[in-house]
Order: sequence, then structure tokens, then C-alpha cells
Amino acid sequence: MKNLRTLFLDELADIYDAEHRIVRALPKMVKAATCPDLQAALKKHLRETQGQIKSLEQVFKSVGVKAKGKKCEATVGLLEEADEIAAEFKGSPAINAALIAAAQKVEHYEIATYGCLVEWAGLLDYQKASVLLQETLAQEKNADEVLTEVARMGNNEGAMGEGEDSESTATRPAPKRNGRASVKTAGRR
Ligand code: FE
Ligand code: FE
Ligand code: ZN
Ligand code: FE
Repeated sequence: MKNLRTLFLDELADIYDAEHRIVRALPKMVKAATCPDLQAALKKHLRETQGQIKSLEQVFKSVGVKAKGKKCEATVGLLEEADEIAAEFKGSPAINAALIAAAQKVEHYEIATYGCLVEWAGLLDYQKASVLLQETLAQEKNADEVLTEVARMGNNEGAMGEGEDSESTATRPAPKRNGRASVKTAGRR
């Protein structure tokens, strides 16, 4: 009979597969990025993601199951879109904003999955699993917030470019500055 435990294990296998794909994708995103702050954020999250895979293996073990992935079609799609948008915006001032958007879509997918897993682990009384999954959920939320910060540190503004059309540049409202770091990254492409 399919029940909450079956669903929990199914979703665990889904995210286990997803994390492996993300580990393979992040170095490509680091290379595609031109903002050092974004590169650093992505590299940090790559190390966290490697730890998340180990943590998931502990979760599997704690519920008496061998760690196994199940192809996550959602992550396949999100990472295909990331490749696509990185290719489309290569060499443009919007490349970093584009990569941040793609990375945040992945984080939001992970947040949804880990959020459900934490709830279910609680209901199933899988206490060790619950603690491990909550740690990862917190990392995913933090990664998402850091990406928002990096976007606001000049990458979104930088994406506006110099404006080939002088009229639209002249009528555009002056961009708002967001804190100290915006000055540091605003001119970078
Ligand atoms: Fe992750
Ligand atoms: Fe999935
Ligand atoms: Zn997934
Ligand atoms: Fe993540």
C-alpha cells in the first residue's frame, strides 16, 4: 500500500537525484558568471550541496533504506533552462541577473521539497531525519536570500546596460542604490 512513508521515500529519492544534478551544474554557472560576488555565492553553495548529499545518505540510513536516486524531471528542466539563458545572455550586461534568476528557481524547488520532507518526517516520527532535513532546508533558504542580496548589489541594475536608445535612457528613472556594495559591483558586467 502506498502511504506517507512511501511518499517520503519517493520524494527523498527525487531530491537525492536533484542534488547530484545541481552539483554538476553549479561549476558551469560559476564559469558563466562574471560577478565575483555571484561566483563566490555559487561556489559556497556547491560545497553546501556536496554536504547535502552526504546528509541525505544519513537520512536514508536513519529510516532503514539504501540511498537511491529517482530522476527529477523538474530539476532536469530547470537546469536546461539555466543552460539556455546562460547561452542567450553570454557577453551581455544581464548575464549575472539571468544566472541569479535561474539559480533561484532551483533553490525554490528545493525549498518546496525539503519543506514537505521536514513536515512528513515529523509526522512519521523520524526524528534524526527531521533534524538533518531541517538543516538542509535552512541552507537552501539562506542560499536563496544570498542570491537576492547579490542581485541587489548591482547585478540587476548592471543588467539595465548603458542603453543603445538614448531617449529611453534619458526618460528612465534613476536607479535606486542599495547599500554599500552596489557601488562596488554596479559598473561590472
Ligand atoms: Fe540542495
Ligand atoms: Fe522532482
Ligand atoms: Zn526534484
Ligand atoms: Fe540549493
